[in-house]
Amino acid sequence: MFNISDYENLILKLLNAGLKPTTNWNEKMTENSLLLRHDIDFSPDYALKIAKIESKLNVQATYFIMLTSNMYNFLSSHNQKLVKDIIDLGHKVSLHFDPKAYENVDKFLEEKNIFENITNNYVDIVSVHRPGLLLKNNNVSLSGVKHTYQDSYFKKMKYISDSGCKNIFPQLNEYLKNSRKFGLHLLIHPIWWASEGSNPTEKLNQWCKIKHNFLKLEIKKNCKIYDEK
Ligand SMILES: [Zn+2]
Repeated sequence: MFNISDYENLILKLLNAGLKPTTNWNEKMTENSLLLRHDIDFSPDYALKIAKIESKLNVQATYFIMLTSNMYNFLSSHNQKLVKDIIDLGHKVSLHFDPKAYENVDKFLEEKNIFENITNNYVDIVSVHRPGLLLKNNNVSLSGVKHTYQDSYFKKMKYISDSGCKNIFPQLNEYLKNSRKFGLHLLIHPIWWASEGSNPTEKLNQWCKIKHNFLKLEIKKNCKIYDEK
């Protein structure tokens, strides 16, 4: 299992290989382009940990944040502050959209407006959460907004993902050892690197424990009769 210092070494490895991180999804990608993408499925706290490592190495990434998650509330003061901190470190933030949260996918535009108003950031690229069927027709845009599974990022770049806590290194080393034709689109979920544990379940349980303690503190703040020590 990997940890936060493994993440730092990963970034150094990519930089040493000559890859150039960019957060401009509209620029022409070259064989040296690196789109470092983070889908925040669980924890904005872990995202900030990753963001600080990148910032220390002068690297910028794109953080995709959910508005409809059952795991965290983007609008809470705690999470708005974390997102602001990520932006202040020089990173890009955008929308991690879950189409399954709505009966009508047109709701996307409403969600986009809320996100833009709160973050003061224009959404020009969206990451779709658990894309499923979208991958069968991956070049459709979302009401005119580009998404990360379109060919330009998904097929015309090398796409590597740590989804499900997959070890990315065999694929990555293979990519780096050959002469490059395509840039790299690397999807990293912060929880797999920033949470502690010797397997994915332990990492998720560690996050649950922190979340549980946070909730207890919030209950104390909001309900005087709660006397749990
Ligand atoms: Zn996701």
